[in-house]
Order: sequence, then C-alpha cells, then structure tokens
Amino acid sequence: MKKRALFLDRDGVVNEEVGYLHRTDEVRFVDGIFSLCRTAAGLGYRLIVVTNQAGIARGYYTEADFERLMQFMRDELRAEEVELDAVYYCPFHPEHGVGKYKLEHDDRKPGTGMLRRGAREFGVELSDSILVGDRCSDVGAANAAGLRQAFLINGTETGGCGGDYLQVDSLAEVERWLMERG
Ligand SMILES: [Mg+2]
Repeated sequence: MKKRALFLDRDGVVNEEVGYLHRTDEVRFVDGIFSLCRTAAGLGYRLIVVTNQAGIARGYYTEADFERLMQFMRDELRAEEVELDAVYYCPFHPEHGVGKYKLEHDDRKPGTGMLRRGAREFGVELSDSILVGDRCSDVGAANAAGLRQAFLINGTETGGCGGDYLQVDSLAEVERWLMERG
C-alpha cells in the first residue's frame, strides 16, 4: 500500500472557525469530519493536522493551552473512532508575533515545513497525499509541496485562490472523491 497522508487544516476543517479557538466549550466539529477521517484511514492515509496558530504568536493563548485543547479534541475524535497520527502547529507570525514568536518560519502555511515534516516522520509520499483547507494559504502550501490534490472548503475565503485545487461545499464531497479514486 502507498504511504500517503490526508493533511487537515484545523480551524474551519476539523472544527468550525470561531477565530483563535482555545476553549473546549467552543469546539464544534465540522459536519462530515469523522466519516472523512475514518474513510481515509481505511484507505491507508495517515491523518495529520497542520495548523497555523497565530493566536499563540499574538499571545492570546499559550502552547500549553493549545496542547490541552488538542488533547480534548483527540479524545472526542477517538470516541468517534478517529485516531490522529500527528498534530503539527506553527506558533510563529512574522509581523504580529510577540517576543520569540515574531519570526518568519517555513512551517507557517503557505510554507511547506509542516507537510515536509509529515513526509519525513511518517515516510509518506507528498505526491500521493492530499490536503483539505479553508484558506488560500492552505492551498498554497499544498501546491508548493507538490501534493496530489488540494481541496478548499467554501465559506472562509471570499476571493478565489491561485493555484490548483478543487472547491467543495462539504467534507462529504472530499470523502466521495476519496472513495472513487482511492
Ligand atoms: Mg483554517
């Protein structure tokens, strides 16, 4: 079986976008995320979250807060029979970061650092892997890393993004694509 990954942006893809999510009582999972993840895992995809966390850079919440929230989300996902293989986050921002977090970093999408890390740590082929995001920066990272396919969920971006991607209205459409194409 091919070694490949389903890269998932977090905010707007795994959970509903609320803006700098950091409280467990604000977590609402996006419709279809559990089923998409189960189907992808069944097809042999690693499940890897790749998330820009400018809220850490800006000092709105800490890395420990982020880790706690992710533990909560991973537990909720596990109850739905979804096991994430990894969660990568970028806590830096080149302009709005405070202190050590004010940094231009290739992990920050559209940089490809987190995707390349997934390839390195799990031995996945980026050209066989896919990504689901809700921003042009997600699509940009996927294209720059040479992924097989990027999906953009409608709703967050108002304008069109450059590059190659499939625009979808729901995660169910991504799941159907996976089931048809493997
Ligand atoms: Mg997002």
